[in-house]
Amino acid sequence: MAAKLYDNHGREINYVRMAVTDRCNLRCFYCMPAEGIDYVPRKELLSYEEMHRLMQVLSQMGITKLRLTGGEPFIRRDIMDFLAAVSKLGLEQINITTNGTLTAPLVPELKKLGIHSINLSLDTLDKDRFYEITRRNEFDKVMHTMDELLRYGIKTKVNAVVMENKNTEDLIPLAELARHQPIDVRFIEEMPFNGAGSHYPVLAWNHRHILDHLRQHYPEIERLPDPPSSTSANYRVPGFKGKIGIIAAFSRTFCGTCNRIRITPQGMLKTCLYDEGIFNVRSLMRAGATNEQMRDAFLDALNHRAKDGWEAERNRNFGSPVSESMSTIGG
Ligand code: SF4
Repeated sequence: MAAKLYDNHGREINYVRMAVTDRCNLRCFYCMPAEGIDYVPRKELLSYEEMHRLMQVLSQMGITKLRLTGGEPFIRRDIMDFLAAVSKLGLEQINITTNGTLTAPLVPELKKLGIHSINLSLDTLDKDRFYEITRRNEFDKVMHTMDELLRYGIKTKVNAVVMENKNTEDLIPLAELARHQPIDVRFIEEMPFNGAGSHYPVLAWNHRHILDHLRQHYPEIERLPDPPSSTSANYRVPGFKGKIGIIAAFSRTFCGTCNRIRITPQGMLKTCLYDEGIFNVRSLMRAGATNEQMRDAFLDALNHRAKDGWEAERNRNFGSPVSESMSTIGG
């Protein structure tokens, strides 16, 4: 009988988002300052052996779904060997979130490894605005990655952060990707994980505003039932091959069915995106902890979990505001 994992609010926990690095080759302004961030010294990053051991322990506890994130995961050397190793752990799904700048040449191998889906972070289809947002000239490579993912039939979702005065004119061109391609396009509320803290007293482009904007262009847009624990509210425009999703990541409307935990590049467990980290599993492992002791530490953390992202943010030390770069968490 497969193990099942629950938190203190009765939510089943079966999904881990593991950030394999904090390094990134883009400088998206909503994630980090132009000069970048102080990266974690390499020896403080989880090693592949440690990440593999972690996935063995977590998969025996009931985790069935893994998403690799970053920074940019494909920046880390030998990532494909690690993917080959974890793909033998019997997980139901292995998914990856990438900015697509380095991915295209790897797509055939990702297909062979049976990667379940790829989330492509892409906030605009305009080359100049891409440069403005990411501060890098990598647009063509990202579009090539999208073509390769479609060519190899890997389930692809495009994630676009909606930013006032930056890319709101891109919402419809991005949504149109789903008309002709089996791509799900998801629009994400901007979050304060930008290395500087929130600069919006009120989020103008929240999930309601995004939906209103889409409805103006697609009055026939239909609400779809949400898969269990979905962060995305899903819609379909009749005739479109892909779905449209809205992720209220700042408004935190979906915490009631949250099924995920996060492991940061340096091994910090986060039981909520908005907390400051519960304990460092890398330190536990390097201190000689047994798998049993790691198990107990995870169970204890899940027994003291915030009920939602607002409570998690309030529980931060001294109510310190969220300001860390998303590149240090993994999204
Ligand atoms: S904000 Fe926290 S509790 Fe809510 S869905 Fe995200 S991780 Fe889960």
